[in-house]
Amino acid sequence: MAAVLQKSPVRPEELRLTYPYPAIPEMGEVFDILPGVKWLRMPLPFALDHINLWLIEDEIDAVPCFTAIDCGVGLKPTRDAWERLFAARLDGRPIKRVVITHAHPDHIGNADWICERFAEHGCGLTATAGEYFWGRILQHGMTGFDNDAQVEHFRRHGLSSAMCDEIDRGRKGYFSSLVPSVPKRFFRMRAGDTLSIGGRTWSVRVGYGHSAEHASLYCADLNAVISGDMLLPRITTNVGVWPNEPLANPLKWFLDAIAAYKDLPEDVLVLPSHGRLFRGAHERVAQLQGHHAERLAETLAACVKPCSAADIIPLMFHRPLDAHQSTFAIGEALAHLHFLRDQGKVVPATGADGIVRFLKA
Ligand SMILES: [Zn+2]
Repeated sequence: MAAVLQKSPVRPEELRLTYPYPAIPEMGEVFDILPGVKWLRMPLPFALDHINLWLIEDEIDAVPCFTAIDCGVGLKPTRDAWERLFAARLDGRPIKRVVITHAHPDHIGNADWICERFAEHGCGLTATAGEYFWGRILQHGMTGFDNDAQVEHFRRHGLSSAMCDEIDRGRKGYFSSLVPSVPKRFFRMRAGDTLSIGGRTWSVRVGYGHSAEHASLYCADLNAVISGDMLLPRITTNVGVWPNEPLANPLKWFLDAIAAYKDLPEDVLVLPSHGRLFRGAHERVAQLQGHHAERLAETLAACVKPCSAADIIPLMFHRPLDAHQSTFAIGEALAHLHFLRDQGKVVPATGADGIVRFLKA
């Protein structure tokens, strides 16, 4: 489940974001970016080809160690890169804690493997309850969260039979192929909790719309926020409606969540899961609000005649999409339709063909 799909159009105001670290670590390498904080990049087998991870110097039970924030997909290239880091770059410190921002495969994929790898040091997982249980359910492929439920959902929202058949064939066992296992126990963090990492306080900020209960971590002392997938510099976070919550309004939740970033200092350093570290969080929030406002206006204009979510996809994505991308695109289109539905601007109706279409009110 890659995090993101849509490229934002380049806007002049985007130049107002600043990128204080011009260089980018090679895949599997580390950069020191802030006192006690290292930036890593790991490969992803998607069009979005990398994820940023963070290692923070820590001390747990008087043992110098690292806390890892997110951990990459559970595939060999990432694990090989981790092993090279364990052998050469961690100054002999074990990893004693894995914190995940959320349970998408690129963030949780190696959590169990790292916890097992450092079991003798008591390594454990820290996550919000929503993300932990969601991750376990998806890893297990539970009914209603599985590929069959997704294909039925996509059909109902107008995706072509050919594309549905391709998703049906091609995505069985997708999550567990990237997340071979999830730890059997965890330590819960909640919105407003604080984590002490290496003697510094990181506060837990929870946001919705991209995943079940996404955690970001803010350190006032460092004036830095680990934003996960909630605030990214160049690409827009995927916000989708999925079959297990078919009536949800995740775009509303997401816009509420990013608005809260305006409570942080304007010059806060943002450590995103994809792309480069940047300053300009308030500006980026404004850009994303503008981006979604434009998509909503286009969606509403299209609904002068009945439109399914699949009918909306070409308005939002001006290029051919493969089956993997189509799953995100239809969820995203539906998220915009549901936002308009809850504003009373469009009304859904199910046709004789079983497809849901939305008409301007
Ligand atoms: Zn994600």
